[in-house]
Amino acid sequence: MTLALGCIADDYTGASDLANTLTRQGLRTVQTIGVPPDDLQLPEVDAVVVSLKSRSIAAPLAVEKSRAAEKWLRSRGASHVLFKICSTFDSTDAGNIGPVLDVLRADAGEPIVLVTPAFPETGRTVYMGNLFVGAVPLNESPLKDHPLNPMRDSNLVRVLARQSRGKVGLADLAMIAQGPEALRTHLAGLAAKGFAAAIADAVFERDLETIGAAALRHRVSVGASGLGLGLARALVHSGRITSQAASISEAAVGGPAACLAGSCSQATLAQIAKAEATMPVLQLDPEQIMAGPAEVARALDWAIGRLGDGPVLIASSATPDQVAAVQAKFGRHAAGYAIEQAMADLAEGLVAAGVRRLVAAGGETSGAVVDRLGIPGFLVGPEIAAGVPVLRAVSARHEMLLALKSGNFGGETFFSDALKLMR
Ligand code: ADP
Repeated sequence: MTLALGCIADDYTGASDLANTLTRQGLRTVQTIGVPPDDLQLPEVDAVVVSLKSRSIAAPLAVEKSRAAEKWLRSRGASHVLFKICSTFDSTDAGNIGPVLDVLRADAGEPIVLVTPAFPETGRTVYMGNLFVGAVPLNESPLKDHPLNPMRDSNLVRVLARQSRGKVGLADLAMIAQGPEALRTHLAGLAAKGFAAAIADAVFERDLETIGAAALRHRVSVGASGLGLGLARALVHSGRITSQAASISEAAVGGPAACLAGSCSQATLAQIAKAEATMPVLQLDPEQIMAGPAEVARALDWAIGRLGDGPVLIASSATPDQVAAVQAKFGRHAAGYAIEQAMADLAEGLVAAGVRRLVAAGGETSGAVVDRLGIPGFLVGPEIAAGVPVLRAVSARHEMLLALKSGNFGGETFFSDALKLMR
């Protein structure tokens, strides 16, 4: 297998978003959890997105993990590697975008790297190097108060220069509008003047296509899912990919189905209420979860007795008042962690009882479930709701379909919508 595109994502949900974008453009895509083992068996695919949790860790560790991911991707034949960052350029003056860019560029022997977090479809545009979130510059958006990476400067040329060893230049919109050849010439000019990175403006999807086509001539690029879209379109356009993503994930898996909800978001609460009309629902008691393993055992007994009749849903989800009461008693962190681990115990028990189709609601909840099931990666299938694809486990102990949804995603009928597509 020779990968047409390798990607390193600096967090799990960003990785899923990118994998979903690539799949929608026709690339057969696998998302792996962490850097995969050297001997990971993969089906024939066009792209692999390695999911790391490296956005807010110490820069040297982020560099080490990203390098290991790059090495794995190159060993599978990836000639281009995209370092996927957040579309709001989440980082600090210490990194981690600049330090990772510096080593990937040096390792690839590239003089200059194109960088853009633009994704016009989601309101992220870049003009004259300034990142806009919807109608406002980054430094006026809610990101200015982000708990880990407060973004107080919207000029990305400056932001990147503060965290990178190399000189940072600009490819402005007027220049991008002249097309990929002009952009390549501009980059060569910048490189000759000693620039090591260029922030690329992009306001429309066609700008991403231009940037994608120019970036493919290089071995490394840095950007959000928008750049993934540009690269994917350039690959399809070049004839290196024959669009066939939709045809890879259709074989039915069958077997019992279950849903686990640990998200307490309004959307998930409404989805659980709606699911009560179509499947048995068990509400967990958080106090009992904190008390010991009996609550998980009770829930497993309840579920296993019903799996033969159709899907079941087990939820810890509660209203803000109830959540606040549990947190006040046990501590926010301890309660969250214990409930996530209970969900992971349930997932493990359900799979041992034969469940092969599993829906998980909640970002952290999904992470705990996937880590516990030891699934090394997923083939990305059709979209259930915006940003939530059907996932087919690869190289796992069992053939399985999963859907992992962060709290606010999906419409009211999400659980039945998911199960309809997970056959
Ligand atoms: P979301 O995607 O909506 O943020 P997450 O799964 O990421 O959902 O986060 C929800 C957090 O709330 C998890 O840590 C989960 O364990 C915790 N949690 C779930 N149910 C309860 C509850 N009843 N009381 C307190 N915390 C809860």
